[in-house]
Amino acid sequence: MTPAPWFGRKAKAARKTARQSVDALPDGLWTKCPKCGEILFNKELQKNLRVCSKCGYHYILGARERIASIVDDGAFEEMDANLVTVNILGFEEYDDKLAKWRQRTGMDEAIVTGIGEIDGRTVVIGVLDFHFWAGTMGGVVGERVVRAMEYAIKNDLPVIMFIASGGIRVTEGLPGLMQMAKTSAACAKLHEAGIPYIVVLTDNSLAGVLASYGSLGDFTISEPGLLTGLTADRVAKQAQVVNVPDNFRRAEFALEHGHIDRIVARKELKSTLIKLLEFCRNREEDEEDAA
Ligand SMILES: [Zn+2]
Repeated sequence: MTPAPWFGRKAKAARKTARQSVDALPDGLWTKCPKCGEILFNKELQKNLRVCSKCGYHYILGARERIASIVDDGAFEEMDANLVTVNILGFEEYDDKLAKWRQRTGMDEAIVTGIGEIDGRTVVIGVLDFHFWAGTMGGVVGERVVRAMEYAIKNDLPVIMFIASGGIRVTEGLPGLMQMAKTSAACAKLHEAGIPYIVVLTDNSLAGVLASYGSLGDFTISEPGLLTGLTADRVAKQAQVVNVPDNFRRAEFALEHGHIDRIVARKELKSTLIKLLEFCRNREEDEEDAA
């Protein structure tokens, strides 16, 4: 299947058309699929985890929706919700932009971290939300990721990080970039402690987040069709010096070339995670028996 474009003039026009089509429908009842044009009953779409029943198009899930789709019936406790983003560089308009994203999403930052249960097993979870400033990583996102990983080490719990990000939040400058080193170092500590670390790419997974904790999982799973790589399409095309396939930054290409271990449809994601967690537990027990 041909994935929907995300960047570039064509994509912008497609998004505008999709928005207008949706706007023309009765409020709150129906949604038109931006990929195949099918009219979807919102309640059915919600039941189907926001996946088009006709073409399999995966709509973006917000962090709270994602958590609800993965953990056992409300079994989630948020961590570090008290961390507050500050305009450390005094970047003009940063506070206004933050306020806009907060109002638009009802979230305080681009990530939610916490402890949840999946099939009765306790895990540490972090979920980036692409709706909040394209899931960009600044100081608070990095700090929440690191604290979640440190908690996992202290309590011997597996970690699952859901990635959906345009990269580093450039308005935080160098402190933003430093989150790459900080979160990568935390991943190394997880590895040293023998803690299972699973990465799930859930939407555009790009740049500094992919080039740090988004690529350091023991297992990397991806939802189908998403964009993954170092840059957005328009930047890649400007910098392109050799011919590469059209899909070279899609999850399917990354799977073929070993960056991703498996592509899993959203409906199968929870059961896949359960199997992976079971595999990790069995392996840990085998190692303990052998010691
Ligand atoms: Zn569709």
